[in-house]
Amino acid sequence: MFHYFAEPLIIDHAKNQFVYDIDGNEYLDFFGGIVTVSVGHCNETVTAKTREQLEKLQHVSTVFATEPQLQLAKKVASITPGGGALRKSFLTNSGTEANETAILLARMYTGSNEVVALRHSYHGRSAMAMAVTAQSSWRIHDTLPGGFVHSHNAYCYRCPFGLTYPTCDVRCASDVKDLIQTTTCGKIAGFIAEPIQGVGGFIVPPKEYFKIITDVVRQHGGVIISDEVQTGWGRTGNKWFGIEHWDVVPDIITAAKGLANGLPIGLTVAKPEVADAMKGVTLSTFGGNPVSTAQAKAVIDFIDENQLMINAAETGGYLQGKLLELKEKYPLIGDVRGMGLMWGIELVEDRVSKKPAVAETARIMAAARDERILIGKGGTFGNVVRCTPPLNVTKSDVDQFIERFDRAFAAVCEPALRR
Ligand code: PMP
Repeated sequence: MFHYFAEPLIIDHAKNQFVYDIDGNEYLDFFGGIVTVSVGHCNETVTAKTREQLEKLQHVSTVFATEPQLQLAKKVASITPGGGALRKSFLTNSGTEANETAILLARMYTGSNEVVALRHSYHGRSAMAMAVTAQSSWRIHDTLPGGFVHSHNAYCYRCPFGLTYPTCDVRCASDVKDLIQTTTCGKIAGFIAEPIQGVGGFIVPPKEYFKIITDVVRQHGGVIISDEVQTGWGRTGNKWFGIEHWDVVPDIITAAKGLANGLPIGLTVAKPEVADAMKGVTLSTFGGNPVSTAQAKAVIDFIDENQLMINAAETGGYLQGKLLELKEKYPLIGDVRGMGLMWGIELVEDRVSKKPAVAETARIMAAARDERILIGKGGTFGNVVRCTPPLNVTKSDVDQFIERFDRAFAAVCEPALRR
């Protein structure tokens, strides 16, 4: 758990954009509990509504419907892509379960088994979710169920075809047709992908990528599953869901993390005809828990009422500008990419070989902690720093963050490596 540091950092409490350790040290949180604290720690407006629910009803199980569950499902249905095309929700406790549900649904709806996923993806830690995931270190090989093939992702910084956008004609996307025709029976259950790969290192595809793949997948009988566990609820700026930036209306969306600002929740929402294919007993003891769903509804309302999707785009654009200034200063930074308030900084030993700067990334993590900022680490090679602050951070929070982040880089980079 505490793999970055020799000494564990023990957290005592948190408020808004700040986290405090047991010694009372204050940290500026630019990771938001792994892309989960979407509206700030212990957000007062949200917590007041949750507290009210805690005193009213805490549990009855999915055997009964509850008001918070219904209110959440109604709100979700009103904001899904395609003017509310996805209208039926199933609630669980995690992103992993949300994806399990989505894949079962795709298989039941289509009557097919095979699913196309992307290389460098992360979809969870159950056996099936690991089989969908395509980062070797996150899979426990020899235990994984079959039925999944993995296509090339749009990792433009390290193009799998050695090409450059846009002259590449988005070859990684058109390759999906070949993948389906050569490695599956030709009739697939679906395609699952993150609109921006999260654990993979915030890999942002070109704008045509998902549209090309969607057409091919539908021609082969499959549905589109958008895993919005990291990209949902305004994180990418101006839109509720990441997939909306790519001009695709998916058939199923999965979500978790930021939806309930830290309480456990998983959501699978689908077009009605797809959702109705779910047959059999669908009990989840904690799924749709009144407290989690009340908090989730309060989170969405808070994002809506405070226009945090717009703030994510504007403050995120400001953060992007500042990160690009750091890139000018430190050759260790090979790539800065992201959207909204989701930014990855890929570190390389040099910009020609692009060799992943794994040791330096670990040192940046430690230096950031010394500077009292919280950031994340990711990427298939462990060399991408990830910044995902709460959606209500301000430009002055960004200034404070950048000042400290700059000092962290200065501490790690030898003078010769600075411009
Ligand atoms: N999908 C994505 C895109 C994720 O980032 C994660 C978690 N990192 C999951 C699924 C799994 O979610 P959980 O950890 O809540 O099971």
